[in-house]
Parts: sequence; structure tokens; C-alpha cells
Amino acid sequence: MINFNLPDSQKTSHECNSHKEGDWMIFICPHCDYVRQINYKTGKMKTSGGDDNIIHHGVQAPRFEKDPLLFTTSVN
Ligand SMILES: [Zn+2]
Repeated sequence: MINFNLPDSQKTSHECNSHKEGDWMIFICPHCDYVRQINYKTGKMKTSGGDDNIIHHGVQAPRFEKDPLLFTTSVN
């Protein structure tokens, strides 16, 4: 049996990799062409690629990142 109307909780979820470029945090999905860019100084956000049926999430605290600003922005 194939169900074409899966509830939202059944949506595919992709975890994105993140890194920093200047004032921007860049989230790149390793599974598709989704890219999200967030300027952590202005709050401006740009997204491209991806699919409405896929939920994307990412963590804004790369383990390898040494910039303390990033850790203060992820508090709370
Ligand atoms: Zn994806």
C-alpha cells in the first residue's frame, strides 16, 4: 500500500552543514541543492534550492568554529 498524503510529521528532513563566510552563516544541504545564508549581524536571510516537501534544519554552532560571537548568538 502506498500513501500519497503523508502528514507533515512524515516529511523528509534534511540536516544541513554550516560554516561561516565573513558576516554570513552558510547552511548547505548535503542531500539536495538547498542553501540558506543568514547574516548574523543584520539578520538578513537568503535561501535557494530545496523543495517545499523537505524540511531543512541546521545547527548554528560548528564544532570547529573558534569565533566566540557565534557561541553568544546561539545562547538561549
Ligand atoms: Zn535537502
